[in-house]
Amino acid sequence: MFIDGRALPAGTALEADIAIVGAGAAGITLARALKDSGLSVALIESGGLEWSEEAQDLAAGELGPQTYATPDTVRLRYFGGTTGHWGGWCRELDAIDFEPRDFVPLSGWPLKKAEIDPWYAKAQSVLQLGSPQRYADSEGIAKAAGAALPVARGGDIEPILFEFSPPTRMGEVYRAELEQSAVKTYLNTTLVDLRVGDDTRTVTTLTLARDGGPALAMTARHVVLATGALSNAQMLLAADSQVQGGLGNGADQVGRYFTDHPILIGYAAILALDPSAGGPFAFGDIAADKRRWRLAFQPSEAYRAAQKRLSCLITIEPPGPRFDPAAGAFDRSDAKWFGAPETVNALAAANATGPVRLHVLNAGIETRPNPDSRVTLTGKRDRFGMRRLKVDWRLSDADLEHYLLNLGDFAKALAHSGTALLRIPPDAAARWPEETSWGHHNLGTTRMGDDPRTSVCDRDGRVHGMANLWVAGSSLWTTPGAANPTLTIVALALRLADRLKAEMAA
Ligand SMILES: Cc1cc2nc3c(=O)[nH]c(=O)nc-3n(C[C@H](O)[C@H](O)[C@H](O)COP(=O)(O)OP(=O)(O)OC[C@H]3O[C@@H](n4cnc5c(N)ncnc54)[C@H](O)[C@@H]3O)c2cc1C
Repeated sequence: MFIDGRALPAGTALEADIAIVGAGAAGITLARALKDSGLSVALIESGGLEWSEEAQDLAAGELGPQTYATPDTVRLRYFGGTTGHWGGWCRELDAIDFEPRDFVPLSGWPLKKAEIDPWYAKAQSVLQLGSPQRYADSEGIAKAAGAALPVARGGDIEPILFEFSPPTRMGEVYRAELEQSAVKTYLNTTLVDLRVGDDTRTVTTLTLARDGGPALAMTARHVVLATGALSNAQMLLAADSQVQGGLGNGADQVGRYFTDHPILIGYAAILALDPSAGGPFAFGDIAADKRRWRLAFQPSEAYRAAQKRLSCLITIEPPGPRFDPAAGAFDRSDAKWFGAPETVNALAAANATGPVRLHVLNAGIETRPNPDSRVTLTGKRDRFGMRRLKVDWRLSDADLEHYLLNLGDFAKALAHSGTALLRIPPDAAARWPEETSWGHHNLGTTRMGDDPRTSVCDRDGRVHGMANLWVAGSSLWTTPGAANPTLTIVALALRLADRLKAEMAA
């Protein structure tokens, strides 16, 4: 059932067993998983069914010195959330991403991947994906696409797969189902405060602002913040009228460890030496198994552990110009990757029997947890009086260093295979961090952990020290891995739904 919060009479008392705040990937997943539980579920969404400037303005904020997307340009404030324009790249995190690693301070989740696997399997269908088994089947997918792999699975740098969601626009795909369900979805209704009881550990009331009328109060037995990683932190920090510093922030951890996946576009390139039909590489998307896949290359888990390396996912982009070594100089602009044209000539002539082709490499890389990389509140306020946020993303040179080392190993593996030459131009490091893009993956800010001194939420997503306040979404990330987050967001939301059902049944 959909209810426009703006149409509710002043003083309307609202109540629910479970109040989910935010109708994006996490919130809609939770609401769907709880809709037939017999519990009364409220889904509170700041925006309406369509994008609007008024709702989007509530997402605005400031940035620190690092170039980054302004918060209101990429996060979407309407039913469906940021899935309204996500790209659909899906991949599970690796088992090692969850492990504490001695070479990465403050690394590790309080969970092992095996504890999430059952929900990963269920998350596949939420995002309209196929079987989770196929993520390991790079050989099979490449074969179905008629492509050869330049390096084998099981090597130091190995081929891995992304599967593409259509992409699932949660607000479109699940709209009718939720509208017809018993879940009460309050649209154009924005959470602006959380009030606690005398014990300061139980949220008693949600303060809900809307245009055209005074704020409304909702009582709920459990509250889940699913407003995205930036807003989840903003909300906890802003709920400071009764508890100094905000809720769950006794150890000053809320908002810290913010990161994204830096996307390094064209920091390196390869010359493919045998571009026979389709190349030796499956660049671009592959249609196989009636699904859409993309091959990428990653240091294997064993190699990362042995070499003490952070992860990266390297894609080989569609080809640049062809060059026939027998036909003359390689003088096109892309030759810059390989130095002077004569160097390219020599390299290609020495290694290729036919035309060669140039591919630029892109990569999403893993960063180290950094407590000083953070989301804070500013003194500026939106029209509902909520303090706007500031995102101060800090990158370290060590994050790039690991990528360059991984690229070096990829170069060796490609040279060994005889299929390609990889080149990192000498000025690559000078481009960091200014010429860095990002995945639009807001990660961290309310990290999970067993120790409340270094985390905000426990292994289920419950805010440390709070009885009935939970968090869903990628604000829970501790160490980010390199995989895009939404599949894991959905898996953790499904897991939380089961946890809440058990809590309510107890
Ligand atoms: C351009 C782009 C491309 C992307 N591509 C990919 C990709 O290929 N693969 C991938 O895995 N991920 C991708 N992502 C990231 C993906 O979109 C997010 O991981 C995902 O949407 C996060 O889900 P969420 O539910 O936590 O937050 P959101 O989807 O952002 O939902 C949060 C919801 O909370 C609502 N809200 C916020 N504050 C309040 C409040 N105070 N009161 C009430 N409601 C509130 C918002 O309106 C919104 O509906 C991409 C993101 C962008 C921007």
